[in-house]
Amino acid sequence: MASLTVENYVKTIYVLAQKASAAEVATGQIAAALGVLPGTVTSMLKTLDESNLATYTPYEGVRLTAAGRALALRVLRRHRLIEQFLSQTLNLSWDEVHEEAEHMEHAVSDALVDRIDAFLGHPTTDPHGDPIPQADGSMAVAADRPLSQCKSGEKFRVARVVDQSPAFLRSLTESGLEIDSQGLVVANEMSQNNMTLRLAGEDRHLSREAAAKLMVR
Ligand SMILES: [Zn+2]
Repeated sequence: MASLTVENYVKTIYVLAQKASAAEVATGQIAAALGVLPGTVTSMLKTLDESNLATYTPYEGVRLTAAGRALALRVLRRHRLIEQFLSQTLNLSWDEVHEEAEHMEHAVSDALVDRIDAFLGHPTTDPHGDPIPQADGSMAVAADRPLSQCKSGEKFRVARVVDQSPAFLRSLTESGLEIDSQGLVVANEMSQNNMTLRLAGEDRHLSREAAAKLMVR
């Protein structure tokens, strides 16, 4: 089994690459995401390269190999299924599950995760709307259209939230927004900092900055 650190690195590289729609990720981006010094990242990237999990080119960046991608997807599968499990069975809120899953994802076996998957009825998304990689490594396409781009008069359903900091998630809850919330864009003017949304018959304001972090269908 790969070490906790290796698992966290491949997971981080995978997520950063997806976010940027690029195969290559820069050392600085990884350092910022993990909160460590670039020098620490560089030596770890060499280890990943030697283990055939990634290809690292100094001053250019790192890209995962097929083996690295497969490991990253397995870690994400564990993480997202654990989040869904904690939310569905123990009623943890969406701002509580991530931190718990960060620890548990390295402690459970893939066999146990498969049992959790079956127990939950093979969910396709986690409590933040992120797609859950399936046991065969396939994964649904994540919702990627920001609410901030919806025009006045458009209906929407919240499918995913990309800023998963507990404070932001709690502010959404207070605004009556959660995954699968449905609403109508009453007004969205580029010149305004706020959008007006109608949720459950009530008009509410949401900053365009916050709306850019909500992906809708
Ligand atoms: Zn999540």
